[in-house]
Amino acid sequence: MPIVLLEKSMAEPVCSAGEVELDAHDRMADMEYTDEELRKKLTPEQYAVLRQKGTEAPFSGKLLNEDGDGMFKCAVCGTPLFSSDAKFDSGTGWPSFDQALPGAVKYIDDNAHGMHRTEVVCAQCGSHLGHVFNDGPTKTGMRYCLNSVCLEFGEGEKK
Ligand SMILES: [Zn+2]
Repeated sequence: MPIVLLEKSMAEPVCSAGEVELDAHDRMADMEYTDEELRKKLTPEQYAVLRQKGTEAPFSGKLLNEDGDGMFKCAVCGTPLFSSDAKFDSGTGWPSFDQALPGAVKYIDDNAHGMHRTEVVCAQCGSHLGHVFNDGPTKTGMRYCLNSVCLEFGEGEKK
């Protein structure tokens, strides 16, 4: 659990009044914890994906085959993002979900690597999570393709 982060956020409340919509990079820079704190908290791979928008190798993630009941949470700030009810096996090698918890994530146009994709970031801290596609096999039609290293699983937790 991000005890250090909670203590810091309580000590230094952030005023959100009048806050303007920032792009993902600015939100990252605007987080309540420093780059140094995040480098200590995260593994090098987590740092590269969450903070520098990298992608983990397919079939490498420890949560890919997690099929317990609970909440998948942001690895940086601990906010619940996806319920295990929304998880499905997409065959891509990345944990996949057909919907996010309401308001838990934000969407950013991503034109990197010669593709037009929609990036998914944590609404709370702006950390990169993965991408969302509209070719999902369930009735939502959505396929959230996420990096396992960006998530922590809270077994038995409910929103
Ligand atoms: Zn977060």
